[in-house]
Amino acid sequence: MKQFSAKQEIIKVGTFLWEKGMVSSNEGNLSVRLEDSKVIITPSGVSKGFLTPDQLIILNSDWSPVYPKAPKLTSEFKLHKTIYENTEYTAVCHAHPPYSTSFAASRKGIPSCLLPEMVLSVGAIPLVPYAAPSTEGVGKNILPFLKDGYEVFLLQNHGVLTLGKTLTDAYFKMEMVEHYSKIVHLNLLRGDVKLLTKTEIEELNTIRNNLWKKPGNVICDVCGYCKFLEGGEK
Ligand SMILES: [Zn+2]
Repeated sequence: MKQFSAKQEIIKVGTFLWEKGMVSSNEGNLSVRLEDSKVIITPSGVSKGFLTPDQLIILNSDWSPVYPKAPKLTSEFKLHKTIYENTEYTAVCHAHPPYSTSFAASRKGIPSCLLPEMVLSVGAIPLVPYAAPSTEGVGKNILPFLKDGYEVFLLQNHGVLTLGKTLTDAYFKMEMVEHYSKIVHLNLLRGDVKLLTKTEIEELNTIRNNLWKKPGNVICDVCGYCKFLEGGEK
């Protein structure tokens, strides 16, 4: 992707995140990796609902700013750097949508196995162990999950991270996980949750692999939510 369209996409996605209440104030951060390996990333201390093209920082492949007088980049840049150094993804979206973040701030994370659409299109949603925002630890803790091919992550006691081939693709995953979290929340409130069975999930994983050949399948033994609901250990 070229610089101009990447900046336009960051501004558009930032507006969606803010208008839909998935970030408040200056929260969240976005980035896109360009064809020439440069990265465009959001600045620190600016609402994602009010971004302007001149506030977006262009970084060389060694993460030095192309323009020395560029604004200060997001404090979460180390997380974005880890993603680009260890995957082929070209867009990163991080936000704090309330329902998903409340699951991220629980011991259990969120079950991936309530609705077939999520198993098919998003796959497993791992809960990445806590590290203080802005530290190397956030990137370090996500590394093992990147190797397993997941694309949507709950960051424990923090928020949500999604990856994509485009920022719009990453944004849609954010929207889907938040929509899904609301549904799971409603089921839990009602005290009546019927998770898909192991056999039903395996069938969906087969469809997912045949359609998209994507890693990051939902695997019962890894999710373990059913054991939680039965009152057992994860
Ligand atoms: Zn955050």
